Amino acid sequence: MEKKMSFSLYYLFIALGVFMLLQYWLSPQITNVSYTQFKKLVSEQKINSVVISSNLLKGFDKVEDAQKKEPLFPKQVYVTPRVDDRGLVDFLEKNNVDIIAENENTLLRTILSWVLPALIFVGIWMFFMRRMGQGAAGGMMTLGKSKAKIIAQTDLGVDFSSVAGQEEAKQELAEVIEFLKTPEKFTRLGAKIPKGILLVGPPGTGKTLLAKAVAGESGVPFFSISGSDFIEMFVGLGAARVRDLFEQANAKAPCIVFIDELDSLGKARGTGMLGGHDEREQTLNQLLAEMDGFEANKGVVILAATNRPEILDPALLRPGRFDRHILVDRPDLKERVAILAVHSKGIKLAPGVDLEIIARRTPGFTGADLANLVNEATLLAVRKGREDVSGEEFEAAIDRIVAGLEKKNRVLNENEKKTVAYHETGHALVATFRKTTEKVHKISIVPRGIGALGYTMQLPTEDRFLMSKTELLEKIDVLLGGRAAEKLIFGEITTGAQNDLQRATEIARSMVAMYGMDEKLGQVTYQQPANQFLQQGMFQPKEFSEQTALMIDEEVRRIIEERMAGVEKTLAAQRPLLEKVAQTLLEKEALDDEEFKALLPPEVKAG
Ligand code: ADP
Ligand code: ZN
Repeated sequence: MEKKMSFSLYYLFIALGVFMLLQYWLSPQITNVSYTQFKKLVSEQKINSVVISSNLLKGFDKVEDAQKKEPLFPKQVYVTPRVDDRGLVDFLEKNNVDIIAENENTLLRTILSWVLPALIFVGIWMFFMRRMGQGAAGGMMTLGKSKAKIIAQTDLGVDFSSVAGQEEAKQELAEVIEFLKTPEKFTRLGAKIPKGILLVGPPGTGKTLLAKAVAGESGVPFFSISGSDFIEMFVGLGAARVRDLFEQANAKAPCIVFIDELDSLGKARGTGMLGGHDEREQTLNQLLAEMDGFEANKGVVILAATNRPEILDPALLRPGRFDRHILVDRPDLKERVAILAVHSKGIKLAPGVDLEIIARRTPGFTGADLANLVNEATLLAVRKGREDVSGEEFEAAIDRIVAGLEKKNRVLNENEKKTVAYHETGHALVATFRKTTEKVHKISIVPRGIGALGYTMQLPTEDRFLMSKTELLEKIDVLLGGRAAEKLIFGEITTGAQNDLQRATEIARSMVAMYGMDEKLGQVTYQQPANQFLQQGMFQPKEFSEQTALMIDEEVRRIIEERMAGVEKTLAAQRPLLEKVAQTLLEKEALDDEEFKALLPPEVKAG
């Protein structure tokens, strides 16, 4: 494409050059002279023929062919306004000048000087239009029809065995597969299956792969399109595409529709700049309408992927749309071993290559990075002319990929990892040593796609509608546990706790200002629960004095400080345990509830 284009541009320049030369050769030199000078030139025999038109006299300096009278390509033309001079003809005849009436034969010259440039410009215009057509509109002919990609794929050759790790995601998707395989079982009982499932996670973690595996496992057609494919140059095209997609999907049901990069299509409306934004909005509205339009049990399941769920239009996440979210995160150590195993299946590894060692050296790598790693190592081995792939090639490939990832800031260094490990252990231990807190489900120091560097997941043991003051305070404790642990171990605090502190402060503020749980301020509510339909904080009238506001701030601060002191005491008392858990976490990168429980002394409640 690139080559062809510069080639034809080259021709264009040659044509332009030739044209300019022609123009130069063919055009005579035109000199405007006064009538007196004109007559003088005639009497000096400088002019051999004169064209008399209604208001101009043109004198030509030479006649190449006497028969032709007016020279085709004169070199010099003298032009003067015509003056009402009766003696002119006599004067010209006397000087042996050819007199030619206006009926001049200028057709050829007209063609050369007017039609040719016009033709050239039309040519240039067509050239650019063709190029534009190719690039953007898919050649104008396919208006409204989706790109070729929207053909249902069958037999992808991908099932769950191609996806290593991601057990939680697989579990959540198992129900969908069950439904796609035997819809009768669900429809008979009137069970509703979710229409839209959002896969959330950083790029390369296997979201597309999972979606394909769901299609493969259930043996249904797979439609795949990227959110950015919907956004077209012409308004209305994207919406037409969505309609088209759903038409096809409905015809092929049961099937799976996979929308990659949902965020590029589903950004919150009304935030865009001018241009392109109306188009996106229309497309999004069409998608929402289509999702609402089809029945849940029709057999079309829409999977979408995004790594930025926070910017999605809330309308997309409402019930009946993408109301189920599945986290597809970076793999931990165990999962990395499994992914490496999947990708080195067809590859001859040298004896002594230990996938676990490779996995240990690649924290923060995604599935795509690992697939890339195996491939790079194999290529290196081929280049060296080896029979198999040895640890050396893997080492070299890791170094190369790590260097690339570090640039993108995706890999934690050892120090950061250690800090995050103690931080997360702090959360987990405080959760363990408080009575009312939820049980620790998982601790991880694998950087999460969305903001956090590590996380501690707690599972509620029961559904809660009411929370006591103690519970709220202990929730604050757990949130403060991270920073308290950092302070205790390193004597230094980091920015990593910002989100924890924000959430702790929010709880404390609600306690004081909303739930009337503070002695000083009394059983009074100063703040309405945030209206979820309004932008938070935007239209909230302040219904209290500055003095009260100050008091609220003071009380919030007091609560946080008091709780922090308590948390620090708890952790200081458990320091050996903190060390032990954090070291294990550093080693394994993630601990599930069983592994965590196993580290606790028997007398400590594990629930
Ligand atoms: P995403 O859609 O999340 O950006 P992809 O599904 O496109 O990521 O993953 C890219 C590639 O990375 C896959 O084709 C696969 O080779 C590899 N990969 C990612 N995750 C896994 C996994 N869990 N198991 C095996 N391979 C994986
Ligand atoms: Zn934290």
